Amino acid sequence: MRQLKPCLLDFTLKELTHLVKPSFRAKQIYGWLYHQYADSYVAMKNIPKAMKEELAQIYLLNPMKIIRKEESDDGTIKYLFELQDGKRVEAVWLKMKDEIHEDGKLIREAKYTICVSTQVGCKVGCSFCLTAKGGFTRDLSAGEIVGQVVALKRDNKHRHNRKINIVYMGMGEPLDNLENLTKAIEIFREEEGLAISGKRQTVSTSGLSNKIDQLGTMDLGVHIAISLHAVTDELRTELIPMNKAHNIGSIIEAVKRFPIDTRKRVMFEYLVIKNKNDDLGSAKKLVKLLSGIKAKVNLIYFNPYPGTPYERPNYEDMFVFQEYLIKHGLLATIRDSKGIDISAACGQLKEKTDSEL
Ligand code: SAH
Ligand code: SF4
Repeated sequence: MRQLKPCLLDFTLKELTHLVKPSFRAKQIYGWLYHQYADSYVAMKNIPKAMKEELAQIYLLNPMKIIRKEESDDGTIKYLFELQDGKRVEAVWLKMKDEIHEDGKLIREAKYTICVSTQVGCKVGCSFCLTAKGGFTRDLSAGEIVGQVVALKRDNKHRHNRKINIVYMGMGEPLDNLENLTKAIEIFREEEGLAISGKRQTVSTSGLSNKIDQLGTMDLGVHIAISLHAVTDELRTELIPMNKAHNIGSIIEAVKRFPIDTRKRVMFEYLVIKNKNDDLGSAKKLVKLLSGIKAKVNLIYFNPYPGTPYERPNYEDMFVFQEYLIKHGLLATIRDSKGIDISAACGQLKEKTDSEL
C-alpha cells in the first residue's frame, strides 16, 4: 500500500510547537487551520514562504476531499469523502431546529452535531450493519477524523467559536482505533483550535469492555454511548459476534466504572428490529439490566437496505416499548429518522455511491 502522507491536522498544539519554530508560528498555523479553515498553504498569509514550502513537502493540509453531498429537507447533510489513498468514508451534519417564540424572537439558536467516522470499514461485523459488509480496510488517522469536522464546518460556514457536538457514530468502531480517536478528541479540545470540550463529544461503541475502561482512565471528559441492541447474550451474539468476547455483563460492569459527569447519563442505544427485540419481554429485561445505572435509552428504528434479512419495526411496537421503559423509570427517546430520505444509517451513502460506479 502507498505510504500515506501525514497531515497538519494530526497534531496537538504542543506537538506542532515542537515541529515549527519559533513556537508562536505554531499558534498562528493553528489559527489558520481551525479558525479560518484554510485548505491551502497559500492562504496562510502571515507564515513565511520558506516555512510553508518546507511543511508542504512533508504534510498535507487537507486530507479529506468531499466527493458527494446529499441534503435532506430537515437540514441534515450527508457527506462522502475520498481519502488520499482513494478510500471512502462518510460524515453527517445534523441540525436541531431554531426555537422561535410566538413573538418571533429567537429563544435558542439551532444546535448542530457532526457524526464522524473512525475507520474505513469495521472489524466488528454486526449482522445488521452495512458498514460491516465490506469488511475492514484501515483505521483513520487522527487528522482524518479531525478533518471531517473541519471540512463540514468550512462547508457550512460555521464560525469556529459556534458550538458544535461531535458523535463518533459514523463508520467504524471508535474504540478499535483508540489511539487515533483519543488524539482527535484532544485536538478538538485545544483552546487555540476548535475548543470543543469533552462534554460535547460522545463515543459510540459496540462494547469493547476493556477499551471502555482504557478510555475512562484517560479522563478526557467524553460521554459514551453503548450500542446494546439486545438483552440476552444469545441474541446479542447473533447481532454483534464480538459479544462472545465482551458479553453484556462485562459491558455493564465497565460502564459502572466509567467516569461520568454527575449531571449526565450514559446513553444506551437499542436498535429495534421487528420480531427480534421489539417485544415487551425485552423491554422488561432492559429495565432490569439497567437498574442502578444513570441511563438514558435511545431507541433506533432498524433502517433496512437491500439484502438484509431484518425488518423495520412498527411504529406502535416502538411506542409501546418506549412507554414501558418510561413507566418503569428509564429515560427513553426514539431517535427521529433524520435524513431518512438521504440513505440514513451509517455506510449507506458509501454503498450507494460504490454501486453506481
Ligand atoms: N461502531 C460504533 C459506532 C458506529 S455505528 C457502534 O456500533 O456503536 C453507529 C450506530 O449506527 C450504532 O448504534 C449502530 O447500531 C447503528 N446502525 C448500524 N446499522 C444500522 C441500521 N441498518 N439501521 C439503524 N442503525 C444502524
Ligand atoms: Fe462496526 Fe458499529 Fe457497524 Fe457494528 S454497528 S459493524 S460496530 S460500525
